[in-house]
Amino acid sequence: MSGYYYVLPQGADKDSTPIQCRGRGIFKKRGESPLVGDLVEFEATENGEGTVDFILPRVSELIRPQVANIDLAVLVFSLTEPALSLTLLDKFLVHIEHAGIQALLCLSKQDLAREGEDTEAAQHMMQEVIRIYEPIGYEVMTTSSSQGDGTELLLGRLQGHLSVFAGQSGVGKSSLLNALVPGLSLETNAISNKLGRGKHTTRHVELVSIGDGYVADTPGFSQLDFTELGIEELGSCFREMRELAPDCKFRGCTHMHEPDCAVLDAMEAGTIAASRYENYLQFMAEMKEKKRRY
Ligand code: GDP
Ligand code: ZN
Repeated sequence: MSGYYYVLPQGADKDSTPIQCRGRGIFKKRGESPLVGDLVEFEATENGEGTVDFILPRVSELIRPQVANIDLAVLVFSLTEPALSLTLLDKFLVHIEHAGIQALLCLSKQDLAREGEDTEAAQHMMQEVIRIYEPIGYEVMTTSSSQGDGTELLLGRLQGHLSVFAGQSGVGKSSLLNALVPGLSLETNAISNKLGRGKHTTRHVELVSIGDGYVADTPGFSQLDFTELGIEELGSCFREMRELAPDCKFRGCTHMHEPDCAVLDAMEAGTIAASRYENYLQFMAEMKEKKRRY
């Protein structure tokens, strides 16, 4: 109901009925409002309802869909249908690093990669993703919703987290969520998206409990919008560059043309993946075009 927030008391059984609460007027004065995922202090009132008094500091805040405190993003990419783009993958990772949350790379539709027409290209891409991303600390998983590969493992990884699934439309996010969350039946088939029916856009996001964790029950976004990123922050959102930056001669080095740049040295030595560095340059150029904000 509008104007109400539904709060689950700490320690309560996840399947118990949430308490219907009103927000304190003070939130409106400050222009704040509780979001799905917020941890709040609330006070029970006599009628079995309550008031939300205070919103605890958020560890992250996703703007679209509006969810607070996400700490794990499952980035779903299919190796084929649609083909994987390393540029898009890096763009997602930049925003996730900026938000300071964990990312899990999930390569979907394994069955197609094994048996489809593009098997060779798909296998090659899979090796590339593992070669580029595992050494810099990203976990890579492979799944197939239709055959059940990897779903148990993924389910295990979601425990203890508040997660969100993200990725291009058609990569199989809805199918994966349906396979993981008992009772969930999101509409699948990206074609409806392409026709612009916006299949999930009008839905209200809810968190569904998944064992000892929660997952946002929406696959309906192909972009992650966290707070905006400034151009000077871009380098720190590529974790291997962030690690090397203290070794650059200049503080605030852009790793483009400066002398004694540890990132350029690593590029030359081949310890930074060329695709990552190229994407860094591309995003930098895009940001300059877009008035220094991303
Ligand atoms: P979303 O747009 O990311 O939510 O993707 P959907 O879950 O709607 O899936 C898009 C299309 O890919 C649908 O036609 C699905 O049936 C198909 N699909 C999803 N997962 C798999 C999979 O593991 N294997 C195969 N072969 N097809 C899949
Ligand atoms: Zn540098």
